[in-house]
Amino acid sequence: MSKIILTGDRPTGRLHVGHYVGSLRRRVELQNSGEFDKIFIMIADAQALTDNADNPEKIRQNVIEVALDYLSVGLDPTKSNLFIQSQISELTELTFFYMNLVTVSRLQRNPTVKAEIQMRNFEASIPVGFFTYPISQASDITAFKATTVPVGEDQLPMLEQTKEIVRKFNSVYGEVLVEPEILLPDNEACLRLPGTDGKAKMSKSLGNCIYLSDTEEDVRAKVMSMYTDPDHIKITDPGKIEGNTVFTYLDAFSKPEHFAEFLPEYNNLDELKDHYKRGGLGDVKVKKFLNNVLRDELAPIRARRAEFEKDIPEVYNILKKGSDVAREAAAETLAEVKRAMKINYFEDKALIEEQSKKYSR
Ligand code: ATP
Ligand code: MG
Repeated sequence: MSKIILTGDRPTGRLHVGHYVGSLRRRVELQNSGEFDKIFIMIADAQALTDNADNPEKIRQNVIEVALDYLSVGLDPTKSNLFIQSQISELTELTFFYMNLVTVSRLQRNPTVKAEIQMRNFEASIPVGFFTYPISQASDITAFKATTVPVGEDQLPMLEQTKEIVRKFNSVYGEVLVEPEILLPDNEACLRLPGTDGKAKMSKSLGNCIYLSDTEEDVRAKVMSMYTDPDHIKITDPGKIEGNTVFTYLDAFSKPEHFAEFLPEYNNLDELKDHYKRGGLGDVKVKKFLNNVLRDELAPIRARRAEFEKDIPEVYNILKKGSDVAREAAAETLAEVKRAMKINYFEDKALIEEQSKKYSR
């Protein structure tokens, strides 16, 4: 069986370092591993509109931002198909058919949807499109027969829902769809990178982000004002590592060579943590180290972005070409789905013959 990747992001803002460690960094590795037959990376504008219906301009502006972020982290359009969800109408057709296989109560139990409804204060006024977006996500994944979906931890319930839809579809209509596997980051800190304010998740919607496109100065200012251990007041006080955002970021970003380069008095992160826990290590020193680590990781990304920013029409061109390839792949699956559901009337010669026989008696 072919190995196929589908993943994507909502164009509700520029991409941040949470996306980077949670998904983007892994995508680039997978892309360059040469192990995959096809890679589809989707800008999920239709999904973003499900909770931004009154603000289409925001989505339109951020499509190009996300595309630039993709290219700047090293997604390569000759290896990965970058495309825009709304341009593939086949996806909405699949969603419509899958809706018959999912109950309202099952959607209400989806923990990510629950949390997001609360975060957006939707309560009784949930747009139907938003409520059903897990079904549209199932369409995105299955349309490309994706086997592997590299995403952050918040997407686990979506993958579960997709698998259920696949099983249900295949058992009712016959084996057509492929069950995907989620690929989570292997580093705990990357599963759900917290915001700079220490809140559970760095999220575009919460305004607690370090963006991939932030300037060096922006990043420095954000790092220096980051949430640490509120009880670590004097340098000599013992400090806590758990829930200390600066250390969580170091878990996500620091590499052994960073110590040799920026903080040679420590051999590794464990030694730095031990010193902090013992007392005698100030927040400013740790933050300066984190800033150096982030600069090392983000500088090449920023430089590549600047290159792509010089030719925006070419970026749209990349998205258009990617969308053409994606449409072709989705159309193939949709045709199989319609055949399995017996709604392929005009190509079904046996059906036409059977009906004519019935009436020629
Ligand atoms: P929004 O607030 O609009 O939902 P978001 O910041 O949650 O935006 P998404 O576009 O919903 O971003 O998510 C894109 C991908 O990035 C998903 O795979 C998601 O799991 C991952 N991701 C998002 N935020 C984080 C985070 N803080 N840590 C790790 N992965 C993340
Ligand atoms: Mg999200």
